[in-house]
Amino acid sequence: MLEIKNLSVTYQNNVKALEDVTVTVPSGKLVGIIGPNGAGKSTLLKGALGMVDKSGSVSFNGQPIDKIQHEVAYVEQKGNLDMDFPITVLQTVLLGTYPKLGWIKRPGKKEKEAAKEALERVGMEEFGSRQISELSGGQFQRVLLARTLAQDAKLIFLDEPFSGIDIKSEGIIMEQLFDLRDQGKTILIVHHDLTKVGQYFDGLILLNQKLIASGKVEDVMTDDNLAKVFGEGAFTDIGGN
Ligand code: ADP
Ligand code: MG
Repeated sequence: MLEIKNLSVTYQNNVKALEDVTVTVPSGKLVGIIGPNGAGKSTLLKGALGMVDKSGSVSFNGQPIDKIQHEVAYVEQKGNLDMDFPITVLQTVLLGTYPKLGWIKRPGKKEKEAAKEALERVGMEEFGSRQISELSGGQFQRVLLARTLAQDAKLIFLDEPFSGIDIKSEGIIMEQLFDLRDQGKTILIVHHDLTKVGQYFDGLILLNQKLIASGKVEDVMTDDNLAKVFGEGAFTDIGGN
């Protein structure tokens, strides 16, 4: 399991992005991180990954997370990625094989096969030689997922993979994520709203600078919790599923 203990992050401009967040995610679960803009969702992933200064500790199956970096895959929020970078789709997916290669080795036949297979799984096998700048948002997000599949990580973090993408790509990505979950991978996904949370996730982490609630979807989706996350009266007609 992933154990985040007393995680606090204060940025240099004195913005307190996260305050004393303690949360546990069991292995083999697909968990959504939900909260409004600026709630600290991206910071939770970056803090867990050691990409920002933090206090607190993060471990996975009892090991400090910085000791198992090669077992962690991370797809950052799309707006932060440079899609004009001159790199092909296949090269992008091959990057996923680097963490486990060690540092002098270059990807060989085995890695190329893994990359091609990953592209097939997301329905992008015909795009291998295309520049990433020539993809739609949904196709690009599928390629980033293929990179994650090629990495074969145990712990997978995705930051808003569905924002601004087509429904076909979203469906393909979810299908692969369900597969990964069924293989025992632990997956955390930042998701900015409440649509489809019941269909997509086993559990939720509700965040608004502090941890508001975490656990099974049906247990945490109470009016009280939602008001704490999104503010009173933010929802009048959420309805069931
Ligand atoms: P979310 O992903 O939930 O929208 P973030 O984790 O990106 O929220 O941001 C949480 C808070 O921290 C926001 O107030 C944001 O403006 C601030 N913040 C995020 N990144 C930085 C940074 N690099 N430097 C300073 N403040 C930041
Ligand atoms: Mg964010």
